[in-house]
Amino acid sequence: MRYLVDFAIVGGGIAGLLSGYFLQKDYKVVILDKRGLLKGASGAAGAFLFPKVGKKSKYTDFINSAIVKSIKFYEEVGVRVYKKGVLILPRNKKDIEKFKEYEKFITFSFEKRDGGFFFDLGSVINPEDVKDKLRVDFVEAEFDGIKKEGDYFVIGDIKARNLILARGYEEDIEYLKIRPIWGERIEISGKWDKIEHFYHKNCSVGEVNGRLKIGATHKRDCLGCKENKEEAMELIKKAKEIINIYDFKIEDIKGGFRAGSVDYFPIVDKVINIDKTLTKAIVKGALPRSVKYEDNLYVINGMGGRGFSNAYVCAKMLYDYIKYNKKPSLNSLRLFIKWARRDGEEYLNAKSS
Ligand SMILES: Cc1cc2nc3c(=O)[nH]c(=O)nc-3n(C[C@H](O)[C@H](O)[C@H](O)COP(=O)(O)OP(=O)(O)OC[C@H]3O[C@@H](n4cnc5c(N)ncnc54)[C@H](O)[C@@H]3O)c2cc1C
Repeated sequence: MRYLVDFAIVGGGIAGLLSGYFLQKDYKVVILDKRGLLKGASGAAGAFLFPKVGKKSKYTDFINSAIVKSIKFYEEVGVRVYKKGVLILPRNKKDIEKFKEYEKFITFSFEKRDGGFFFDLGSVINPEDVKDKLRVDFVEAEFDGIKKEGDYFVIGDIKARNLILARGYEEDIEYLKIRPIWGERIEISGKWDKIEHFYHKNCSVGEVNGRLKIGATHKRDCLGCKENKEEAMELIKKAKEIINIYDFKIEDIKGGFRAGSVDYFPIVDKVINIDKTLTKAIVKGALPRSVKYEDNLYVINGMGGRGFSNAYVCAKMLYDYIKYNKKPSLNSLRLFIKWARRDGEEYLNAKSS
């Protein structure tokens, strides 16, 4: 029997899960994922929620506002937030100079410590706890492209009026140019200096339930990357630049690809119909005559290295778009124009040949 829903969400990472969580208040929703819920990048994440230190910019403002809002949300829904504070340290000499400049832009309460900034707000959550607290209908299944029967999207036994693509780094919408960035998060048991709070330098470090969690994502162009002990040892080396670790046993290694957009901001939108929008090449300074969208097809992606806070803001934005037709500020037109100006002519030539 066919399973009829208002929304099928492809991808059960934090972006898909939170989108489903909000939409299920008003619609029948199912999430499908080939790996399971919170298994992709979301299963690898340290799920640290740390403020960003930097010059005043739209990006820093966005990240920091998402941190505050998401912590409040997780607390409200009963996810345990380990709010011990974070000490953000400069990575090198250049950073020491930059930090002097950044101080005036910090909008949270902070203390200066060891050449860095300590924020009370720095927190960690556990993705397993998020999964337990945010229940959404789920089916393990692989999506292999768009198939329609009349007005409905069909994926195996699921028939959906609307489809949301939340596929992380595996998203293949041409104009989005999603970039995979590989990283690992490990957990070790053993002996280290007593630590009262979390740290961030070349990696994020925190003690939760007697284990030390260490995570970083940094490798571009490494689609063949797999979890490996050498990288885990590199992470331990980086953590040792922050705290003394005397003895350790690696208990868990998780690797994954975070998904980044070319301008680092996430994307929340309907999918643009390339062929109907790109009718002729777009030169620098020009805009498409009119933007045409695919019917009932949405995308949420580009959560970057801060998916557990960004996804909260993005999923709310997607809900507001669907429910109230409020155009998302993180819509994808900016990326479409960038792509069309650079690659549009080649795309049109390939299509006509
Ligand atoms: C090592 C590491 C450490 C990180 N640390 C932090 C951190 O401390 N704090 C933080 O906030 N963020 C962190 N991040 C970033 C964060 O994990 C990501 O931004 C976030 O998980 C992205 O969520 P997502 O839902 O967009 O993608 P994903 O979690 O990757 O989910 C996408 C899902 O789509 C599914 N999918 C794709 N294609 C298909 C298909 N064809 N059919 C069915 N299913 C499909 C995949 O199986 C996957 O489960 C870290 C990332 C990594 C890799």
